[in-house]
Amino acid sequence: MGEPLMHPLGLLAEVTHRCPLGCPYCSNPIALESRADEIDAVTWARVFAEAADLGVLQVHLSGGEPTARRDIVEITAAAHSARLYTNLITSAVGVTEKMLAALAEAGLDHVQISIQDANAASADRIAGYDGAYVRKRALAAAVVRLGIPLTVNAVIHHANIDRIADVVDQAVALSASRVEIAHVQYYGWALANRAKLMPTRQQVEHAVDRVEALRERYRGIIVIDAVVPDYFARYPKACLGGWGRRSLNVSPSGKVLPCHAAETIPGLEFWSVREHSLSDIWHSSPAFNTFRGTDWMKEPCAGCSRRLEDFGGCRCQALALTGDARATDPVCHLSPYHDLVADLAEQRDEAPYIYRRFRADRTTAAEIAKVG
Ligand code: SF4
Ligand code: SF4
Repeated sequence: MGEPLMHPLGLLAEVTHRCPLGCPYCSNPIALESRADEIDAVTWARVFAEAADLGVLQVHLSGGEPTARRDIVEITAAAHSARLYTNLITSAVGVTEKMLAALAEAGLDHVQISIQDANAASADRIAGYDGAYVRKRALAAAVVRLGIPLTVNAVIHHANIDRIADVVDQAVALSASRVEIAHVQYYGWALANRAKLMPTRQQVEHAVDRVEALRERYRGIIVIDAVVPDYFARYPKACLGGWGRRSLNVSPSGKVLPCHAAETIPGLEFWSVREHSLSDIWHSSPAFNTFRGTDWMKEPCAGCSRRLEDFGGCRCQALALTGDARATDPVCHLSPYHDLVADLAEQRDEAPYIYRRFRADRTTAAEIAKVG
């Protein structure tokens, strides 16, 4: 494997797939899990205790919209009791100030609010929800009033990339301590909308320059996290710091995944917290061990000096673009499929968004095939 097994640092707790918004780049799977399948708060409490024992330091309470769960305060309190740093990742829609105060009382340490754009009409159009933008600003102000550290997360694509500076200005105006400029990653819903979401090369180059200027301007005021988007990079990123290396995701029904898109890879066997301890899953589950380390690699990754830096890039992206999850991520310029990425980066259209909708009970195989 090339290095000893590390312990995870972060746990993404996807407590529900329910969400009032419909972002066309949502990282949730196309086949959303239903409310009836969600694990209960008692099980989450056990998972958090086991995570802390494994060495996890941070839990990200996410979804869907995590506050769609009526027991989110209880779940947050359980994470806090396990001595985990708790971060609520929220769309802000449906979160009242009273609920926020109760979460703070339960030990919530940090809030991350997504904003879809700096322009209200465009933001609501991207979210597929009228009035979302106003609610996000109101909740951000409430977070700051309660003294909870705030991160603004903006997913960037063709429709909003030219307003990156406005997004950062807005995060500063909202008194956020950090802003994440997260370029769309093309799996699941985003893959279905790729030609609509893909920025032009010129847009990306301008955005990279603007971010550098903004970092200078706001040094000491706000931290700006941003990386060059995959399709325009020379090397891939170490997806989540390497497969099964630093983090794990628990789905609403209790399935444990090495990353949120791992279920797009056919043939992987995911174990559930309903039947296994988190430690057992981390150490022994087939899904975590399949792409751990470097033994699974083919050339050119197998003989490459960067293989312990980027771990061959993203397995889900390799599968989506080449049909082979063991292939070098085609984002890498050394991949024999790299031209494919360059071609796709030039393909765009103005088709309407395919919005992500929560309809798990009604999503048929035919609908999934149509979207995915
Ligand atoms: S990306 Fe949008 S639709 Fe998906 S969970 Fe977040 S807010 Fe909801
Ligand atoms: S060949 Fe593989 S290991 Fe080398 S830089 Fe490319 S993706 Fe990374």
